[in-house]
Amino acid sequence: MTDILALDQRHIWHPFTQERTAPPPVAIARGEGAWLVDVDGKRYLDLISSWWVNLHGHGRAEIADAIAAQARQLEHVIFAGFTHEPAARLAATLAEMLPGDLNRVFFSDNGSTAVEAALKMAWQYWRNRGERQRTRLLAFEGGYHGDTFGAMSMGRASGFFGAFEDLFFEVQHLPYPGTWPDDAEGEAKEQAALAALDAWLARHGAETAAIILEPLVQGASGMRMVRPAFLRAALERLRAAGVLIIFDEVMTGFGRTGDLFACQTLGITPDMICLSKGLTGGFLPLSVTVCRDGIYEAFLGDSFAQALAHGHSYTANPLGCAAALASMALTRADECTMQRACISAVHTRMLDEVRHLPQITAARQCGTIAAFDIVSDDAGYLSALGPQLKAQFLTEGLLVRPLGNTVYLMPPYCVGETALEDAWRRVIEIVA
Ligand SMILES: *Cc1c(COP(=O)(O)O)cnc(C)c1O
Repeated sequence: MTDILALDQRHIWHPFTQERTAPPPVAIARGEGAWLVDVDGKRYLDLISSWWVNLHGHGRAEIADAIAAQARQLEHVIFAGFTHEPAARLAATLAEMLPGDLNRVFFSDNGSTAVEAALKMAWQYWRNRGERQRTRLLAFEGGYHGDTFGAMSMGRASGFFGAFEDLFFEVQHLPYPGTWPDDAEGEAKEQAALAALDAWLARHGAETAAIILEPLVQGASGMRMVRPAFLRAALERLRAAGVLIIFDEVMTGFGRTGDLFACQTLGITPDMICLSKGLTGGFLPLSVTVCRDGIYEAFLGDSFAQALAHGHSYTANPLGCAAALASMALTRADECTMQRACISAVHTRMLDEVRHLPQITAARQCGTIAAFDIVSDDAGYLSALGPQLKAQFLTEGLLVRPLGNTVYLMPPYCVGETALEDAWRRVIEIVA
């Protein structure tokens, strides 16, 4: 461990970390299913799916084998003017899994760049159609869409980006009525949010190009959940005003909310959907922006000026596509549906116990995601409780990473029922 840590400390800059005050990182040697094993042999149950990317467990053989076979065949090829089987099959698979005419797949490397592609598509869509007055952009307060500049501008109200605010483009942020089952103010918050949306659309509806949102659950800002009925009402109004709807399902995609996608739970086909985290089962960086046929068609013409001038060196990397195909086969299998139902049932049972603890408030769940807040004077992402709890969880062999005073569990689907229940009991003990 000491060698790795010494080299790390000398040369590495970790993400989202104040390196002066953070404890030294844990050096992980291998992963087995829902478990991670450090270089000293200590085991940690990965209850956050390694920052939400892992679906079917670490070291999953089907995905590892698919990557190895693809690497011997074709590791990468330029994707302008060329194509390949893993990308073509993956695009067709995703189109089949997604609702409606979400048929056209644009590849990128991560969630942030999938969001950038969606924003550029939405912006240029209106220009290509000669409707240049549609220049305004909407998002929800607390929405997080990634760390590149377009994504930061849309997610400015997530509160992570104070240092960069002067560089952001203009985005209107709507109130977000985050709620939970015994929330006395739930209805009132929803009514206020809809009233704010109505007021915006009355003044600027015809000038609004697009809205981006994390449907059902805002992840990074603290697993903030809304009721489907609220989103349906809001999206109906936006549709009626002609506003393009972009679903950022980078976190909610591939079964986290119970259904394969939150858009299915809602019964709404967005104009574009961004997918990334679970796409390769957590093996390789890959993302897609999938759009409806009509969006794509607005980019067809005789001049390059009408085309989408956007792409990355590793667009549609064949290894990532092969991993995604293997991961999608696992995700669509009945076994995965049963695993998700099992996680969801354990969460419901354990939240019912947790709900009554005096230290806890806002117990909530959406499919395989369970969350609650710890009552605290300094609630929010910077709450001192976060680092304290994280350290204690790690000592106990639990990888849980509270978002401030919000504790959440989002395990890989392969986690066993007993392992998950045991973990819940220890989490409750630590919190209590
Ligand atoms: C993580 C996340 C992103 C950014 O994805 P990266 O791969 O980290 O760039 C965007 N949107 C949502 C909802 C996310 O959870």
